[in-house]
Amino acid sequence: MTKLHVKVAVIGAGMSGLVAARELRREGHQVVVFESSNDVGGTWLYNPRVESDPLGSDPDREVVHASTYRSLRVNLPRQLMGFSDYPFLEKGCGDPRTFPGHEEVFRFLRRFAEDFGLIELIRFEHEVVRVEHAVHGRRDKWAVEWRTCNGEEAAGVDVFEAVVVCNGKYTQPKIAEFPGRLTWPGEQLHGHNYRIPEPYKDKIVVIIGKGISAIEIAKDILPFAREVHQATRETNAQIVKLRKLDGVFPHTMIECAEEDGKLVFQDGSFVYADVVIHCTGYNYHFPFLKTKGFVTVDNNCVGPLYKHVFPPSLAPWLSFIDIPFLTVHAYLSELQSKWVAKVLSGELALPSEEEMMSSVQEHYQRMEELRWPKHHAHKLEMEKFEYEKWLVGQLGLPPFEQWREKMGSAVFKFLQSSDQNWRDTWDIEKWMQEEGFGKQAH
Ligand SMILES: Cc1cc2nc3c(=O)[nH]c(=O)nc-3n(C[C@H](O)[C@H](O)[C@H](O)COP(=O)(O)OP(=O)(O)OC[C@H]3O[C@@H](n4cnc5c(N)ncnc54)[C@H](O)[C@@H]3O)c2cc1C
Repeated sequence: MTKLHVKVAVIGAGMSGLVAARELRREGHQVVVFESSNDVGGTWLYNPRVESDPLGSDPDREVVHASTYRSLRVNLPRQLMGFSDYPFLEKGCGDPRTFPGHEEVFRFLRRFAEDFGLIELIRFEHEVVRVEHAVHGRRDKWAVEWRTCNGEEAAGVDVFEAVVVCNGKYTQPKIAEFPGRLTWPGEQLHGHNYRIPEPYKDKIVVIIGKGISAIEIAKDILPFAREVHQATRETNAQIVKLRKLDGVFPHTMIECAEEDGKLVFQDGSFVYADVVIHCTGYNYHFPFLKTKGFVTVDNNCVGPLYKHVFPPSLAPWLSFIDIPFLTVHAYLSELQSKWVAKVLSGELALPSEEEMMSSVQEHYQRMEELRWPKHHAHKLEMEKFEYEKWLVGQLGLPPFEQWREKMGSAVFKFLQSSDQNWRDTWDIEKWMQEEGFGKQAH
């Protein structure tokens, strides 16, 4: 079979964009990566700067991409953060901990990009502002419009046969709404714009949310703040069962905010606070994508997407990497990238457009049966290994090593437990031995 080699634009040089570029080039495609920052890494390229609008709601604000705070440590063991043939080893990068700080992940990704000659494919400080389907001659193409973000003010349009979107999903904040929020006199920010705890010294801080970022930011601020409170959607009865954080006062959701600084919670309790930090998640955001409605974001469901990657009517010429959440990102991105690269070259075939649409509809139907809200359309959590196994099967790869699944499940249990120090107390080597996996993880 003759392989098709196409000209592909990859948007973003974070973890997903880098592995997509590698897999596309391995398959013989001609790759250009557009990256608005001046380096690779995406999430892992720490930027001490914050946005002009701390809540990240103003569409005209200057966007800072990474939501990384100074003390951020990974929440997956490094064994799960490398690629299948390029592990995230302890040696050589500088922070040998099983759960290292963010700088270590950045160094790992930089080295990955260098070792696979990806740097030369990247146009740094090039922000993609428009991706639009255009018919050129007899082939459908994509116009990719970009502008530089290094002060030179250059701009242009290039034409590609395919576009792979890897722009990340943790940049566009979602905030919690409650009566009185707009006139509440205290400081409000989204976790996206949290960097360091010192500014919260002696302040009374209320953190909204119960996800990993909410917990980690609360822990970061605790030694500095006068009081730290956490408001969640849980009822009082559920709060009792929630992960407890020593020193943090748990509450139900904020009922209303008053002009004298008072925050009243749904159970009637209240606090006069100085700061509210919304750790309430993010929205998928593709401001550059013009698909005439073929791809939409509705209540944080990107769709329709066949297996979270291909919009059926534009496949395979438009694809998305790392849309799923609550997953093991590096491995998932790698598998999705291999799939996209091989579908573009013709080595693997997709079902017909109708079949892909039926598969999407089945997914939506199942969500309805399970009473999942729409914004959980890309939540893999308990199903993540099924999805990865499906991709492995499509690619004809040998089944993935069992330790991955076991280790992933163990981590997700730890994340839900009340053990606050599990990253430092979990002896992963011992765990591997006990589970009968020896040293295979390296
Ligand atoms: C606080 C936090 C903690 C996390 N912790 C972990 C963890 O411990 N382990 C783990 O595996 N995952 C973790 N993640 C998930 C993490 O996002 C993924 O691991 C992974 O880094 C995602 O890579 P990505 O390339 O898809 O997106 P990103 O890393 O967000 O990269 C996207 C890239 O696209 C670029 N870009 C965006 N728009 C444009 C445009 N229009 N034009 C040009 N370039 C553009 C950005 O500048 C960026 O470089 C965490 C995420 C957050 C926010």
